[in-house]
Amino acid sequence: KAKKQIGTNYQYYIADMEEEMAERLALLRMLRQDFSNDRLELWYQPQVSLKNHQVVGMEALLRWPQANGQFISPAVFIPLAEYSGLIVEIGSWVLEQACIQVKKLEQQGFSELRIAVNVSMPQFRNHGFVQSVIDCVNRYQVRPASLELEITESVVMDEPKIVIEALQKLKSFGIKVAIDDFGIGFSSLSYLQQLPLDRIKVDRAFIRDINQAVGEVIAETIISLGKRLHLSTIAEGVETKEQEQAVKAMGCDEVQGFMYAKPMPPDELLLFLQQQKRD
Ligand code: C2E
Ligand code: MG
Ligand code: MG
Ligand code: MG
Repeated sequence: KAKKQIGTNYQYYIADMEEEMAERLALLRMLRQDFSNDRLELWYQPQVSLKNHQVVGMEALLRWPQANGQFISPAVFIPLAEYSGLIVEIGSWVLEQACIQVKKLEQQGFSELRIAVNVSMPQFRNHGFVQSVIDCVNRYQVRPASLELEITESVVMDEPKIVIEALQKLKSFGIKVAIDDFGIGFSSLSYLQQLPLDRIKVDRAFIRDINQAVGEVIAETIISLGKRLHLSTIAEGVETKEQEQAVKAMGCDEVQGFMYAKPMPPDELLLFLQQQKRD
């Protein structure tokens, strides 16, 4: 009897799994279709200096709008795009859009802004990646230092050799590198030494919990680690004045979060920047 019971559960389990996989495949098919029909959007979230409260740059974030006006979260579709390899094509579109955007802003009089782009592991595995980034920067005549690549700890740990080598080449071309979501992955600190980093992004989780002892000590440790390594630090997910005060007191250089601005489409970003300039 017990055996039969297990067998039955197992069948349900398989059925659930099949259903879930079918759903994911359907979503991936939709993503592929919408991407090739140019329906993905790149939005931008400002990054602000804590020294003078000026906008110093922005992070490019993918948006996948649906017919009902909602968006499917990148947390849902990015892993699918990574798994399927579609992220290689999407990622090169993102880079191109980011270069176009930074050039446009430069022409509007915002010449000092940098743009940060998230990069996934499959992009690094693609042999032409380094050259394609350089080509993109050259094609749109963007200052290399205005482009920053964001990589997570898991990307580094996955294939340290490939990633370090690619980043070193990009770095010598003048492109900036930030380590994203720092502290939640399990990176070996020894890789920090080998990575040509410019910036550490303190993960949102520690900013959220900064009023608790553990969050506070972790945020503080990451920020002082950045200082000791002569890297710039930026706190992600700053939503309140208290959080801003806390990271400022810790010596953090920059902030990014809903308190300043949510990610927004390019035309809104321009209005936002013009407004900031007037204030
Ligand atoms: P991420 O790179 O860590 O991006 C920051 C995320 O935090 C964004 O979520 C942003 O909207 C959110 N965020 C910013 N400030 C706040 C805040 O104050 N409070 C809260 N609750 N959230 C805040 P989003 O846009 O949903 O993106 C999620 C993740 O998807 C990104 O995390 C990144 O890993 C990935 N992603 C987004 N666009 C791209 C892309 O173009 N390429 C790749 N490879 N990954 C991307
Ligand atoms: Mg990021
Ligand atoms: Mg992040
Ligand atoms: Mg993240």
